[in-house]
Amino acid sequence: MRRKGSCLCGALTYEIEGEFDGVWVCHCSNCRKASGGFGNTIVVVPRERFHWISGEDHRTTYALRETYTITRCKTCGTPLPAEEDEANVYLTAGTLDDPLGAVIKTHIFCGSRPDWDEDGPQTKCFVERSSGPEVGD
Ligand SMILES: [Zn+2]
Ligand SMILES: [Zn+2]
Repeated sequence: MRRKGSCLCGALTYEIEGEFDGVWVCHCSNCRKASGGFGNTIVVVPRERFHWISGEDHRTTYALRETYTITRCKTCGTPLPAEEDEANVYLTAGTLDDPLGAVIKTHIFCGSRPDWDEDGPQTKCFVERSSGPEVGD
């Protein structure tokens, strides 16, 4: 099984091979800032199963701390899969174009979650924009 992914502008495309057991969500303060959202969503992919198709040299890496870097597309700024250690690529799940065939497996740094990072009893979920139908309608 091969699955494809890309950045927002399409300069960078990649392919991953095989099956995966799920997505890691990190809610730490670094990942919240770097994503601008509730955190980073990562699929850990062994390096030999990850292949750049295009744009590999169109990346820029920011070293935020000695042990924390982020890699983005030079044109559109999409957070990209990054070679964070010798064995694995840490793939940003939002860049996948194909279904993963797995769900969220693990949340980490849950103790750092801000108070807004959860659904409440009044939370509404729409199929698309809030002017359209809710999920389940
Ligand atoms: Zn891009
Ligand atoms: Zn984190």
